[in-house]
Amino acid sequence: MDELESKECIVCGHVEYIYTNAAYCVNCGAEAKNYCTNPYCENNNGRKIDLEPYCKACPDCGGITIFNQLGYFSSCNEE
Ligand SMILES: [Zn+2]
Ligand SMILES: [Zn+2]
Repeated sequence: MDELESKECIVCGHVEYIYTNAAYCVNCGAEAKNYCTNPYCENNNGRKIDLEPYCKACPDCGGITIFNQLGYFSSCNEE
């Protein structure tokens, strides 16, 4: 059963009620869910476990998240 939630896209800032199982932003096509890119980590298990959008690294294995890998945090000039 699908649930609707309010979610802000990390890339385009588009806020819309989307299905919680949506994989991509309906506005720009960005990944809607953040997950660990480590193939051996259980947080990357078929994208079943999504991490919080602000996570740059996986809290479980320390691997980078898909949001981080795709450069979604590049707007943050922390360097
Ligand atoms: Zn978007
Ligand atoms: Zn992980």
